[in-house]
Amino acid sequence: MTKLAHFHGGLKLAAHTLSAPIIDSSLPEELIYPLLQRAHHYATPIVKINDRVLKGQMIASANTPFTAPIHAASSGIVKAIEPRIIAHPSNLTDDCLVIETDGLDTALTFSPCLNYQNETPENLRAKIHQAGIVGLGGAAFPTATKLAIEQDIHTLIINGAECEPYISCDASLITQKATEIVQGALILQYILQAKHCIIAVEENMSQAEKALQQAISTDSIQLISVPAIYPTGGEKQLIQVLTGTNIPAKSLPTAYGFICQNIGTAYAIYQAITHGIPLIERIITITGQGINQPHNIRTRIGTPIKHLIAQCGGYNKDVQRLIMGGSMMGIALSSDAIAVTKASNCILAMTGDELTSKPAEMPCIRCGDCATVCPAELLPQQLYWYGRSGQLEQCQDYQLFSCIECGCCDLVCPSHIPLVQQFRATKGAISIKAKQSEQANLAKTRFQNQQQRRAREEQEQLAKAEKRQATIEKMKAASLAKKKTL
Ligand code: SF4
Ligand code: SF4
Repeated sequence: MTKLAHFHGGLKLAAHTLSAPIIDSSLPEELIYPLLQRAHHYATPIVKINDRVLKGQMIASANTPFTAPIHAASSGIVKAIEPRIIAHPSNLTDDCLVIETDGLDTALTFSPCLNYQNETPENLRAKIHQAGIVGLGGAAFPTATKLAIEQDIHTLIINGAECEPYISCDASLITQKATEIVQGALILQYILQAKHCIIAVEENMSQAEKALQQAISTDSIQLISVPAIYPTGGEKQLIQVLTGTNIPAKSLPTAYGFICQNIGTAYAIYQAITHGIPLIERIITITGQGINQPHNIRTRIGTPIKHLIAQCGGYNKDVQRLIMGGSMMGIALSSDAIAVTKASNCILAMTGDELTSKPAEMPCIRCGDCATVCPAELLPQQLYWYGRSGQLEQCQDYQLFSCIECGCCDLVCPSHIPLVQQFRATKGAISIKAKQSEQANLAKTRFQNQQQRRAREEQEQLAKAEKRQATIEKMKAASLAKKKTL
């Protein structure tokens, strides 16, 4: 039996299991695709309004390493490219590509690959990029970019530990598609040339563990069950539990020879490489006491949430809050017209009973409980005060960007201080400041380049005028000499 390590802090949280089987979502009338993928990075539409598109067709391309292409999840007509409300902490509206489905679900002909080992790792990475695959654990970072690393990777970790309570989409996917997930892991291992692969599940996922045990038929893949301590599903925390390696703040796991991929991502890679099918669907957990019949649903990306909730028997009358993600890290939604994105793993409709109303904020009593539970080994109370007083440099010195926004500090704070809310606001302020300074530097460089160009042009003109004058003088002298000879 593998000896497991512990990460700093963390909390044992009440489990919210979901035993209902996976159901398939019906086809919605509209599929909605936000073009904004990650902070400030947009995909570019490659179709026009009124174009007919087929299921699996690329409809938006990626022009930066931080975006991935988007594909239509069903056939229909491009109805609009217009602002719609998107899943964002500030309830933003932003440009979305909208497809009116035609009910036919006509798909492109996909190109399967019979043996991935006949392809080079570079070709497979290119296929993963073309298939629009991103990390399905919630971060939605483009997988092809994550795989394009220079360091040697000795261990690939397939993360099947659900990241927080209520979410069970990964457990249900494993139970149904264990063989395909193992195939996806082997493809990743081949791309990375990684000697070892660990598939991690949580100790309370017995069905999923059994399915994987039956599916694994190679010694290069090891299955490990980890304790359900929140947030074991965090990348650095999981690496520490499985291998005892503590990845320092500011360092990436790849620098230590590790790379993590989510279970859903491994499955999406299997689908893309083996069957040529791009990322057009995912499993999402629709749950909470505010839903009449909670389920894990296999759904097309782009489906409006209200369509899925209707398929789960609708809301019950006590529902008070709609959250995308889990109860710890999810974001509150102001509307169920928002569509499922590649990053959506859970929709949580909570009732008053589930929501513990937070008492009024009180002054910090310096108890240190927030630091005790912080899995990133930060000092949340310090970060809070620096952030609140606008001391952004100190926040960076105190590793604010290592905060994974897990919410453990919030949960234990006896003074009910909204720590994570402040951390998100401070990170936003730092990003805006960095962007402003980048723009100011750009403007300065542009101005300096202009000045240099002008000076160069003036010098060139001066040199030209001098040359011209010298030629005239030379001609004059020649003419004078000629006259004298005559
Ligand atoms: S939210 Fe951030 S600061 Fe608070 S416990 Fe989690 S990682 Fe630490
Ligand atoms: S848990 Fe709350 S009261 Fe205690 S030190 Fe942290 S911020 Fe202050």
